[in-house]
Amino acid sequence: MSAPPSATGELERTVDHAAAAARFVADDAKAHWHDQALWWVRKKRDAASAAVPDWEALRDAAAGLKAHTLSRLGDYLDEFARNAEARGAHVHFARDAAEHNAIVHGILQERGITRLVKSKSMLTEECHLNPYLEARGVTVTDTDLGERIVQLRHEPPSHIVLPAIHLKKEEIGELFHRELGTAEGASDPKVLTEAARQHLRQRFLEAEAGLTGVNFAIAETGGVVVCTNEGNADMGSTLPRVHIACMGVEKLVPRREDLAVFLRLLARSATGQPVTTYTTHFHGPRPDGELHIVVVDNGRSRQLADPVFRRSLSCIRCGACMNTCPVFRRSGGYSYGYIVPGPIGSILGPARDPAGHRTLPFASSLCGSCSDVCPVRIDLHHELWAWRKELVKRGLLPWRKRAAMKLAGAVLRFAWLYRLAGWVARRLVPALPRRLAYGRWNAWGRQRELPPMPRQTFRQLYRSHRDRS
Ligand code: SF4
Repeated sequence: MSAPPSATGELERTVDHAAAAARFVADDAKAHWHDQALWWVRKKRDAASAAVPDWEALRDAAAGLKAHTLSRLGDYLDEFARNAEARGAHVHFARDAAEHNAIVHGILQERGITRLVKSKSMLTEECHLNPYLEARGVTVTDTDLGERIVQLRHEPPSHIVLPAIHLKKEEIGELFHRELGTAEGASDPKVLTEAARQHLRQRFLEAEAGLTGVNFAIAETGGVVVCTNEGNADMGSTLPRVHIACMGVEKLVPRREDLAVFLRLLARSATGQPVTTYTTHFHGPRPDGELHIVVVDNGRSRQLADPVFRRSLSCIRCGACMNTCPVFRRSGGYSYGYIVPGPIGSILGPARDPAGHRTLPFASSLCGSCSDVCPVRIDLHHELWAWRKELVKRGLLPWRKRAAMKLAGAVLRFAWLYRLAGWVARRLVPALPRRLAYGRWNAWGRQRELPPMPRQTFRQLYRSHRDRS
């Protein structure tokens, strides 16, 4: 089965990346537009990073800081919780998504709150908080423009930084006409943004609590830091009396001064901006308000214990690996069927559910472009490669792939068999009728022409060059 979003925004459990990608590329024009839109963001990232002379040193520093923090995560969590509580925040720890959702609901329920505004939290997507709260009578409004667009369409985000990047402005115009009453056919981004602003303003004023994600949490000070471009996290956390900040355990940095390293890398890697428009530090609740910080594990400790895949916990969710990935750009975020798509999602998804996400590590050309742009130097393509080996070891490859690999192994083991196979292919393939040569078995030929069969083998070519020289 493939993994389209369901009406509640949930993703299906078992993912067939190739089948879902085939549906996305069926709209050729849109697939090309998606590819180019993300490539434009990638080029902005290149220009922004090239303008920082010590960019590579910053990446080294970030990778070092993350490795150090992860090696002492328990200590830093204790320090953070102590300092945050000393500043008047309530710190809650959740083992998994169910506990996280129950804690958030408990805070709302105890105070009789039924209207929540939300901003900037992939973690709550991971925990499927929206449907959980809505089933219990809480109205949840996502306030980032892209998030609100996909929420109105009952879809999850298709990208972690650009949640509605798969939609054209005409599609958003249609949606707003239907949902927000804008004029039919209006697709001017300025008009649409203004309509969204008016609609969200009302939701902000009505909200009784605001929930935000956390980009960084500082152990030394007990503060949390949220970065947004729209200022909506600030509205959502300061207008209502109750602010709930939800974070994964990996969001910690040891000291306030470490932030400088990550803030210089984050916006440039994400969108090519020198800095995010709003970077807000929350140290304790506002006067007369409440600040609850929910710290979630949800499988992260298990990943931390894994010597191969623990580095992927360093991710600062900038999305650069998605924007550069030739597979992501051409197959769209929904083809991954996981909350975090792209190269990093293809590592995190199988870590959570290896059988359900077994196709994701193969959704990569292993070109290494993701590792090249990652600001915290996660060796993404090596981890994807490691996942492939792990899936083979666990017997999770489909039988067709196993059979093909066995056959290829047998042919490559015996030189005479390899030569014979080449001889047959060189004669047989050009003689096949097109219908057969481009049949269902030839996945390559669905999108492109096969190269002409060479007349000589590589050995013959090599010998003739050697004899001539
Ligand atoms: S893996 Fe690296 S490039 Fe990808 S989102 Fe995370 S930090 Fe950014």
